[in-house]
Amino acid sequence: MKVLVAVKRVVDSGIKVRVKPEGIDLQGVKMTINPFCEIAVEEAVRLKEKKLIAEIVAVTIGPKQGAESLRHALALGADKAIHVTTEARIDQAVQPLDVANILAKLVERDNYNLVLMGKQSIDDDFNQTGQMLAGLLDWPQATFASNIQITDGVAQVIREIDGGLQTVKFKLPGVITCDLRLNQPRFASVPNIMKAKSKPLETIPLDKLGKLHNSIQITKTEAPAVRKGGAIVENVDVLLQKLRTEAKLF
Ligand code: AMP
Repeated sequence: MKVLVAVKRVVDSGIKVRVKPEGIDLQGVKMTINPFCEIAVEEAVRLKEKKLIAEIVAVTIGPKQGAESLRHALALGADKAIHVTTEARIDQAVQPLDVANILAKLVERDNYNLVLMGKQSIDDDFNQTGQMLAGLLDWPQATFASNIQITDGVAQVIREIDGGLQTVKFKLPGVITCDLRLNQPRFASVPNIMKAKSKPLETIPLDKLGKLHNSIQITKTEAPAVRKGGAIVENVDVLLQKLRTEAKLF
């Protein structure tokens, strides 16, 4: 069984970003693999360790620096990588339907049995690409996975839903998007980082597989309003008075 894992390169979640009207300022900013995509890679590696899958291929769509996220996936245990290159901004111009279309082309070309993806990119927060890919391929999907079991070509997935956990199953091929509690990704060891440098990495210019449609135009980006600091009150009576007179809650 072959698995395609989609990994996106995003601004590191620990960075305080500078917001400009035209978007986040990416100049000199630390970038990293999208955390949900790292969880997807880890899950693929665990399935391979259980001998449930034979090959893991990591794919990214984006500028040349995206190769760093692929090398990270290779160091975690992916076997091969595909870099679909474009100089367009991946947090703005490479949109979910574009990504889904390109991934669908690769699935058709290389016959994968499963696509593992992050549930969401932390830069654009779309949470759409996995769903669109499943639609384009006409494959079943399970989103927000917090547990994945594969037996005899059937995937059983526990999904995190509002107020609980839902278990679904479907016959592969299919698409699964990974949630935070699915696993804790391992650290890449130094020998594995070295080994990753010699694993195969195929580069394909984006226009060989499709094009960017820019179907959504981002008209403005704003930083969230600065929150006012809280205050410590002496006792409950003062709190109630402030809630009544200042916040006018009752
Ligand atoms: P989104 O729909 O943008 O929130 O992204 C959901 C998931 O789609 C991500 O976690 C990735 O697995 C995948 N994805 C989105 N954009 C890209 C990209 N440029 N390259 C590779 N995978 C991507």
